[in-house]
Amino acid sequence: MTASADPVPAGLWDSLGWEPTPEQLQLLMALQQHLRDWNTRLNLTRLVDGDDYWVAQVYDSLWPWRDQLRTPSQPLRCIDVGTGGGFPGLALAIALPAARLTLVDSVGRKAEAVKAMAASLGMGDRVEVRWERAETTGHARACRGRQDWAMARAVASAPVVAEYLVPLLNASGRALLYRGQWSPEDLASLERAASSLRAEVERVERIDLPGGRGVRHAVVLKPIAPCPVSYPRAVGLPAKQPLA
Ligand code: SAM
Repeated sequence: MTASADPVPAGLWDSLGWEPTPEQLQLLMALQQHLRDWNTRLNLTRLVDGDDYWVAQVYDSLWPWRDQLRTPSQPLRCIDVGTGGGFPGLALAIALPAARLTLVDSVGRKAEAVKAMAASLGMGDRVEVRWERAETTGHARACRGRQDWAMARAVASAPVVAEYLVPLLNASGRALLYRGQWSPEDLASLERAASSLRAEVERVERIDLPGGRGVRHAVVLKPIAPCPVSYPRAVGLPAKQPLA
């Protein structure tokens, strides 16, 4: 460990209608330390200090989950595709202690770091880490069609991410796309992609992050029929030839 944890900005949790228990707060602080530690060995994320960590990582990961944060004993099955340094997945695993999380990244060293952090935080039994491309995960028997929630933050354009996430959902599952700016054109192209995947846009929520840290959108997709088995397409194709 290289430094002590930074204090949580005053009033950070107010708009969530939730606040971490003392144990969860300890875990979030420990996660910050682990990130700093791993960052000395590999470039996991630059958002590790002060508000960068508490607002741009932790709060930004949790705000779309306000409803679920009120029912933390719900046994959700969730997957975070392109987890990078572990966001939003690890923050969610701490905030929802009954959820099982699968965290996927195509970079082996990142997957290794996230797996080690989950184990150090005592969550190794309900956080699985997969080192693979999302296109592969989408056809893995253990993952496809099984998730209550599939999410991705800062991984690719919305139509590309939709192709990664929708095949993973069970019939009542939802895909959560974390986006920054969001325009009517973005919505139109996501709707076109979703229709190929037999899904539709259920809602779009917008917030201003605390501390003037910018606009965020949460875009939620729901399946309307089983996703065709041809999706996701072969590795690289979703990004090279997006569905919209
Ligand atoms: N979600 C994290 C966050 O918001 O901090 C990481 C974002 S980082 C910009 C994007 C991550 O997605 C990288 O770690 C990259 O390796 C991963 N990634 C991109 N395309 C992927 C794919 N097709 N399958 C799995 N991981 C992918």
